Amino acid sequence: MRIVVTGGAGFIGSHFVRQAIKGNYSAFADAELVVLDKLTYAGNKQNLAEVADSSRLRFVEGDICDGRLVGETLRGADAVVHFAAESHVDRSIAGADEFVRTNVLGTQTLLNAATEHGVGKFVHVSTDEVYGSLESDDAPWTEEEALKPNSPYSASKASSDLLALAAHRTHGLPVCVTRGSNTYGHHQYPEKIIPLFVTNLLDGLKIPLYGDGENVRDWLHVDDHCQGIALVAADGKPGEVYNVGGGIELTNRQVTGRLLTLLNMDESMVRYVADRKGHDRRYAMDISKISGQLGYQPTVTWEKGLAETIDWYTAHRDWWEPLKG
Ligand code: NAD
Repeated sequence: MRIVVTGGAGFIGSHFVRQAIKGNYSAFADAELVVLDKLTYAGNKQNLAEVADSSRLRFVEGDICDGRLVGETLRGADAVVHFAAESHVDRSIAGADEFVRTNVLGTQTLLNAATEHGVGKFVHVSTDEVYGSLESDDAPWTEEEALKPNSPYSASKASSDLLALAAHRTHGLPVCVTRGSNTYGHHQYPEKIIPLFVTNLLDGLKIPLYGDGENVRDWLHVDDHCQGIALVAADGKPGEVYNVGGGIELTNRQVTGRLLTLLNMDESMVRYVADRKGHDRRYAMDISKISGQLGYQPTVTWEKGLAETIDWYTAHRDWWEPLKG
């Protein structure tokens, strides 16, 4: 079996690849993995160093918008797990063009090639942000929720979700869409809130908290997120969407407070900054579909996951220092 993993040098994609190569997903224990990654600012071959010597891993450096390369890479593939994307909301607010190019055009380029070469499964990795924003007393989103994305990032992801589902309806491509919630863990680029705050604090720098800090996110450890994606890749029903949440709803202030406690620091390290434009208030996911149908359950507790993440950044200054510089 051959699986093409786009964006496999990024945060979540590299975790999926490392786990799959180590045999931690039974359905793919013998699979060959072909990583297709452009190595943008967010991609890092070092993320795959642990498994780089495996005869089951091949790395192709290239752009998912390059139709010829994508066609060559997908020829003979049994499955595609599509992580590659521009992924940072703040960058999309500063300039959205690259988000449309990679997230929309890149996804369509992959869908074209997957259809042409009869790929047996296409997992499109998406985000809870496509649903928009909840108020504090709203019920968590199910997969039936209408898409109401607010940022250029989430709008580009929602567009690609619809194109992926259209490829299923129109061409019969066996597509599944996963919508993961806010993911944290080791190897996350230090622009996202948890690694940004941890690395700032390790350097004795203040941490910038947006607005009133009361925005709520549904936190999900990268290991659980990838378990969910692996279950969908193995047994997800074509044409279906699966929410993958962590069930840990916390305000940014609560996340900040926990980080300060674990690093023996106090509120004086927080610098309140003007709110992000169009900042979504709350995300929360109903995961009963993937739990009931595929047996998914998040297993990494917030306490353990966060402590281990801090330990990893403490021990891997060589990984993040050049990126922050
Ligand atoms: P990331 O930014 O860490 O990694 C993205 C990877 O894609 C990088 O390796 C980059 O080099 C590659 N890439 C970017 N543009 C490319 C292109 N044109 N061609 C080929 N490769 C390209 O992202 P991440 O946080 O690992 O997110 C992976 C996926 O999961 C994304 O689709 C994202 O939307 C989704 N997601 C992320 C989160 C989260 O909290 N990080 C939550 C839910 C869903």
